[in-house]
Amino acid sequence: MIAVVKQSATPEQLQQFISWIEGRGLKTDVSSGDAETLVGIIGDTTQVDPFLLESMEIIDRVQRVSDPFKMANRKFHPEDTVVDCGYGVKIGGGTFHVMAGPCSVEGDNLFEIARAVKAAGATILRGGAYKPRTSPYACQGMGEKGLELLCRAREELEMPIVTEIMDPRDVQTFLDYKVDIMQIGARNAQNFPLLKEVGKTNVPVLLKRGLAGTIDELLMAAEYIMSEGNPNVILCERGIRTFETRTRNTFDVNAVPVLKNLTHLPVIGDPSHATGYTRYVRPIAYAATAAGVDGLQIEVHNCPQKAWSDGAQALTPEMFEDAMKRIALIREAVTAEL
Ligand code: PEP
Ligand code: MN
Repeated sequence: MIAVVKQSATPEQLQQFISWIEGRGLKTDVSSGDAETLVGIIGDTTQVDPFLLESMEIIDRVQRVSDPFKMANRKFHPEDTVVDCGYGVKIGGGTFHVMAGPCSVEGDNLFEIARAVKAAGATILRGGAYKPRTSPYACQGMGEKGLELLCRAREELEMPIVTEIMDPRDVQTFLDYKVDIMQIGARNAQNFPLLKEVGKTNVPVLLKRGLAGTIDELLMAAEYIMSEGNPNVILCERGIRTFETRTRNTFDVNAVPVLKNLTHLPVIGDPSHATGYTRYVRPIAYAATAAGVDGLQIEVHNCPQKAWSDGAQALTPEMFEDAMKRIALIREAVTAEL
């Protein structure tokens, strides 16, 4: 961290500032130029609030030179993390896995959808049992009954399941049902007690980017989970809120290579929540694939018009099958050795 000291600062004020920093167990490195004086702050600066420094009379501005995320940082862990989700599904390190299924688990149609997505090449079954709905009057999901259905589908199809957890008090239930991947949804991306609680398990966590979350906020959310001891974090770009109103969200395609550069954690793309409309899901799935994601999450429903939630963005099994073939071709193109 570097503090730029105002020209008006007296030598006594500068010395006071240096003593204040060093009193917190950090080292300093002062360089006085003609135009400005820089104080390099060396050590674990995660404890130092840059805004507090900037509020000091003699400080002009403060710049971080090291990232606040450590465990998720590729600088300290250059190799890709590979998250073992069971049933031979390993996400990261050059593999590509697609999780697909309905937005909400609704009943026995889960089996029909699960069979179709597996036949088309999906390796993970998705479905929400606990649903984060904007309205308290909208369907809130089947709860434990939904988990039971997911487990039955997992047994039949021998594929891991991913489902959203919204409440830290549900962690034990998710462990009891041996949920393979716990999803933290966009609305809970900064629910710190929830992040910490899933961090105390070793179950893979699919962490979605917050509704208007920055890349750094996503990485700091991952840091919450990892700092509790769980290294099995998969990040998900699912679109962010922008000024655009023609789509539900805006898929931040930049975030894919940026995250791959900053972190060793796997990154997947969710074109369904990113766009909100069936007609846009496939093009954005292709863009995410070309940008280098380690996998995708796509909502698929046997009868989108009857879906309990997010029918407007669901692919039919036929559309999904078509998408999977094209995704494979795009992956070939971007990973080919030339
Ligand atoms: C979901 O996966 O159904 C969901 C609610 O996703 P998000 O948190 O990205 O909106
Ligand atoms: Mn959904």
